[in-house]
Amino acid sequence: MSYDPDQRITRKHAAVLARTTEKTLLRDERDRGLQRQDDPQTKQATYRLGDLVESGRIRLEDVTLAGNAAEAAEVIKSREHVAKLAAECVRLRCPHLRAEATLAAQENGSALFDPLVALLPTATEPGTAGTLLGAVAALITAAGPGADPPASVPALAHTRALRWWAKIRPQVEASVPCERSGSRSCPDCWEGHGCPRDTLYQPVTRVAVLGERGRLTKKGINDRLFGSRPDRRINAWPGTHPREAAYMAWLVFTFTTQEDRVLAANDYLAVAMAKDLHLLEPRLARVACQTLAESRGLAAARVLAEKVLATRSTDPAYDELALWMTWHEQAAVQAARRQAPRTITHPRLARPAGRVNHNPYLPR
Ligand SMILES: [Zn+2]
Repeated sequence: MSYDPDQRITRKHAAVLARTTEKTLLRDERDRGLQRQDDPQTKQATYRLGDLVESGRIRLEDVTLAGNAAEAAEVIKSREHVAKLAAECVRLRCPHLRAEATLAAQENGSALFDPLVALLPTATEPGTAGTLLGAVAALITAAGPGADPPASVPALAHTRALRWWAKIRPQVEASVPCERSGSRSCPDCWEGHGCPRDTLYQPVTRVAVLGERGRLTKKGINDRLFGSRPDRRINAWPGTHPREAAYMAWLVFTFTTQEDRVLAANDYLAVAMAKDLHLLEPRLARVACQTLAESRGLAAARVLAEKVLATRSTDPAYDELALWMTWHEQAAVQAARRQAPRTITHPRLARPAGRVNHNPYLPR
């Protein structure tokens, strides 16, 4: 609504908008000269909206939320209600909070984002911080680039994403970790998706990388992400946001490979590896291992994988990296075994060379 300072607002709604009680407002009338006017018909105490805004009791952005002051008060009340419910869900490590956040993201994502994040200092038990951050991640994803259905306003604007993350990351890292087993862990840990405490940088980086258009393009990569100029993300980020830069490089590598531009993808990977970014991100580490195994052999890939796995978190991409390594090593062992000449100790009992059993399942 457009802000009209002369609009009258009831004490009840003023209290909600000012996030205080009616009693405090009464006291302000007495002690601090807050002007009140009784409505002649309803006998309700009302204030001039301009007085409340100018004295800093009510924030202007709260007033302009809805069509009029009463509706704005309702919106604030329902948001406070949601924040209270969320606090309860966090305490209980409730798996439904993520689903609720996903549903709410479409309309109220940006409004719920800050109140939800503000609950982080209250999450002091193992498992609660993970539960809360899981809901934050759901909010970012469901009201972010490529969301279906698209949200009216993104929960985390791409212009704000990395600045917000730089501010909140120390809090996330200092929050209480989930227990590795048992009930004192968050729903994502419980389901093996990786704790949002460890993986939240991914949705944040996606928002920051995909930017205004919400998707990667060849031109976008050349204009903003990769290149030799110092303002390109690959040069600007590693100093302050190395892991985010690594995830960005993986996004670009994957996108370029899917576009069948393998040579360009390998160039991007080489640039990222020259900056040692592949040591920080399990996804990037896996593609780096693949390239190393092809160019310098499995032993070199193994050294890299072990180095990366030493800093393992709950992110399931580390499991995939370990599995990839094991699988390739086993395959190499098996291939070597098939190549080796047979040692025949009892020639008369040995199977004649070249003889194989009949396989009834082969097509005739
Ligand atoms: Zn967790």
